Amino acid sequence: MSGFLKLLFRNRLATMGAVVLSFILVVVIITPFLPLQEPNVTSTPDRFILPFSEGHALGTDHLGRDLLSRLLHGTRLSLAIGIAAALIAATIGSAIGIIAGYFGGRTDNLIMRGVDMLMAFPYILLALAIVAALGPGLMNALIAVAAVNIPFFARNIRGITVGLAGREFIDAARLSGMSDTRIILTELLPNVMPVIIVAMSTTVGWMILETAGLSFLGLGSQPPQADLGSMLGEARSALITSPHTSIVPGVMIFLIVMSINLLGDGVRDALDPRLRSGALSRPRATTLVDREGDIPAPSDDLLAIQGLKTEFRVGERVYKAVGGVSLAVKPGECLGVIGESGSGKSVTALSVMGLVASPPGVITGGAVRFEGEDLIGAPYETLRQKRGDRVAYIFQDPLSTLHPLYRVGDQLIEAIRSHHEIGKAEARARAIELFKAVRIPNAQSRISNFPHEMSGGMRQRVGIAMALANDPDVIIADEPTTALDVTVQAQILALLDDLRRDRGLAIIFITHDFGVVAQLCDRVAVMYAGRIVEEGPTETVLAAPAHPYTKRLIACVPELGQGRRRLAAIPGLPPAVDKLPEGCAFAPRCDKATDRCRAGEVALTGAGSRAVRCHFPEEAIHARAAG
Ligand code: ADP
Ligand code: MG
Repeated sequence: MSGFLKLLFRNRLATMGAVVLSFILVVVIITPFLPLQEPNVTSTPDRFILPFSEGHALGTDHLGRDLLSRLLHGTRLSLAIGIAAALIAATIGSAIGIIAGYFGGRTDNLIMRGVDMLMAFPYILLALAIVAALGPGLMNALIAVAAVNIPFFARNIRGITVGLAGREFIDAARLSGMSDTRIILTELLPNVMPVIIVAMSTTVGWMILETAGLSFLGLGSQPPQADLGSMLGEARSALITSPHTSIVPGVMIFLIVMSINLLGDGVRDALDPRLRSGALSRPRATTLVDREGDIPAPSDDLLAIQGLKTEFRVGERVYKAVGGVSLAVKPGECLGVIGESGSGKSVTALSVMGLVASPPGVITGGAVRFEGEDLIGAPYETLRQKRGDRVAYIFQDPLSTLHPLYRVGDQLIEAIRSHHEIGKAEARARAIELFKAVRIPNAQSRISNFPHEMSGGMRQRVGIAMALANDPDVIIADEPTTALDVTVQAQILALLDDLRRDRGLAIIFITHDFGVVAQLCDRVAVMYAGRIVEEGPTETVLAAPAHPYTKRLIACVPELGQGRRRLAAIPGLPPAVDKLPEGCAFAPRCDKATDRCRAGEVALTGAGSRAVRCHFPEEAIHARAAG
């Protein structure tokens, strides 16, 4: 609840709505106790007194009645009627919707056709017809407004309920012997409640307007009783000569409806789990850069990540996802990056081309140099030209990276044509060639498949073909084979290896699988809690891991045909990156850790291409490198 309120009040417009509405509510609640004049007492000599006159702060109307008093009493009445109508419509409508959606079949059909019949009449006409049948009066206006809004709730809630009624937790409740009433009350209702609240908060304003509309036409509140609609209606004849009599209730209606709608929108957004983390903003085209400290000097690598720091700023919290990572690749080289899930591999990879979503992502330090040029903070156009053309990505889940509504060939052709001005036919020929290069059988016809018509392995090949489309110099592959089975994985690894040898492609291969690293990579870097803890040639790291974390990570890998052996899982969990421990981040899980490890920053030390971030490495890498 407090989380909900916090989220709601982060939305400035909703806060404004809430403040205005609460103010109005408080005032109308205490209206009977305020020293106001009688709202219905007429005094003909005092007709049409202007606002801000003595004794009449808002002036008087055509019968000399005090407008302030009428306004407050009228608002009180209008709000009460509007809210009551909303509650009645929501209760009856939701009940109908839940029953229809839950029982389905004939019940559903019967109820919903009835609802459809109500919906077939124009809103206000139906309300008019109801009032005409029942006779004018506030109570009847309330009934009419509630009745015309029932179908809206019934339809909405039925839709949600139908979706929920087929879900496993309802089946489970049924199997456990719960009665239908109990299932509806304890399982369904809590799940549809947010929708009901949202639908209500966004329609209360509308219902107040409808009630005012009926009163305006003389079908709602009867003279001398004031509500906002009837005040407007009575002021109509003096609209030109004494506009204040219309403006006073008009402004109040505007304030009420506006504040209710703003608050309602805020409530809807705050209750929507999809909007909860993203805080309602579209990510920028490139990651925000807020760099402090020196920018590292250029190196002669093809792609060099130098001391990169990326963090997420969510409210008060700062998640230091990448805390100073340096990696580099030369042409034709494959660098493996390995680490547990959540260690910052993907964020590192996405930072290279400024693809981390901002907000909340911010790059706070370091540099990413492609052929010596710093890409961090580079203009969007520079990045756009390089994205996909010089540095390409392969992502983990091809189903979510391919657009479901376009043919895979068209998506590939678009990738080519966004960087090169070539004709459609030529691009198509190139696409077929690429499909063949990634060994998609029957390329000619598969090019016009939709993503859902392909298997996971084939889709991933399309992803690879797309990465290769513009002959990039570097490919960053973020767990490209994790979603695939091992035989397909082996084929795809072989494919990448061939491409690397044929085209001199540099690959940064992110994975959490040591087997894959051994098969493909020349060098490997081990990441933990956003930092590199060990780096070196693949064989030496695998044969003689220096960091206790690497050693234990390797010990977690089962080996086939090696007899029985106890797998040594690493106890504990990686640290949360918003509360990183001082000193070595692995210390809490390490059996060698001492006070020195926990005290301060541990540096990455090494000789040659071998480096480790540990005070007590397993292997004396310095001696080895020297020897
Ligand atoms: P992985 O190594 O599994 O690819 P990631 O790079 O995706 O890990 O994530 C690194 C860390 O960054 C994780 O601890 C995660 O909690 C944090 N993180 C990623 N995205 C966000 C975000 N949008 N907001 C806050 N923290 C995030
Ligand atoms: Mg990842």
